[in-house]
Amino acid sequence: MIDLKSLLPEIKENEALAPYTTFKIGGPAKYFLEAKNNVELVKALQVVASTGLNYIVIGGGSNLLVSDSGFDGLVIRQLNNQFKIDGDKVMTESGAKVADVLAATLTAGLIGWAWAAGLPGLIGGAIRGNAGAYGEAMSNITESVEVFRAGKTEILTNEQLKFSYRHSLVKDEKMVILAATLKLKKGDPTVDEELVKKYLDHREKTQPLDLPNPGCAFKNINLQEVQIDQAKVIKALDITEAEWQAATKYNKLSVSFIFDKMNWKGKTIGGAKVSEKHGAFIVNAGEAKAEHVIMLMSELKMRVRNELGLALEEEIQLVGF
Ligand SMILES: Cc1cc2nc3c(=O)[nH]c(=O)nc-3n(C[C@H](O)[C@H](O)[C@H](O)COP(=O)(O)OP(=O)(O)OC[C@H]3O[C@@H](n4cnc5c(N)ncnc54)[C@H](O)[C@@H]3O)c2cc1C
Repeated sequence: MIDLKSLLPEIKENEALAPYTTFKIGGPAKYFLEAKNNVELVKALQVVASTGLNYIVIGGGSNLLVSDSGFDGLVIRQLNNQFKIDGDKVMTESGAKVADVLAATLTAGLIGWAWAAGLPGLIGGAIRGNAGAYGEAMSNITESVEVFRAGKTEILTNEQLKFSYRHSLVKDEKMVILAATLKLKKGDPTVDEELVKKYLDHREKTQPLDLPNPGCAFKNINLQEVQIDQAKVIKALDITEAEWQAATKYNKLSVSFIFDKMNWKGKTIGGAKVSEKHGAFIVNAGEAKAEHVIMLMSELKMRVRNELGLALEEEIQLVGF
């Protein structure tokens, strides 16, 4: 029997996880620890590496669906939030908020990632999932990361991270991002400051920010990566060729567009609902259980497969299932 309390004295037991997620859903973590800096984070990771304890590291909890029974292991929440700007680079710990780093870089006259305005969550989670918006993504500004992998720390370059749409090597292998170096451009921040306002306004108008949600439930369909029966999809969506061309001009078929055309916005199971404002978002419309979300997502996936011949892939990360 491992005496976790003696190894990690700050550890808590049976901590409710829902408050640490933007979806406000899910049961408790058997063990829970907040790492206030990278020394504490590495210490916790060394303990899990040596004990074999099941664990997960969380950030802003803005991309998570936690199961109703919670997580049977250790949840490490990142509070390591220090960063510094040097020339056109930012050296940041994984737990810094994207919003804080973005604001500080603009003040310092660094530009090139206004698209990240309104992206909830922390640097580590954003790099792991190659978070992005408006045609840009973390892969464009991440120079390197320091990770904890197989019991030790190492540096991985942008190339080694093998970024693709909402994906990086960090998703394929069990490793934790401890810190990152972002490379930006020096320039007049006025244009980016205007863009930040525009993007925040756009999110406010198009996303259900008034209800708990974990962002997009499913990834958009990357038409460069998957083979589709275009005629079947156009027929199922009941759209014209011109509408198809307009909807797919960036080589992606958006899940929101599909759900809109299939009239699935507003579809509800228990407290889980397909947002009427943005079809790719499933919202917690009140007292939603993870079970409701899973049932709703399963039904949507099945109907998309049967009616359009397309396979939807989850964008949200499932914890404790
Ligand atoms: C309103 C709203 C809007 C959103 N808009 C967008 C958007 O425009 N574009 C987009 O891409 N996403 C969007 N998201 C989803 C989400 O904000 C991003 O995926 C975000 O980058 C997740 O960061 P996080 O810190 O919250 O990660 P968490 O949700 O805490 O964790 C996500 C995953 O990353 C892992 N993880 C976290 N930190 C680390 C680390 N240091 N090392 C290794 N693994 C780690 C966790 O284990 C988990 O599997 C949105 C979400 C919401 C709620």
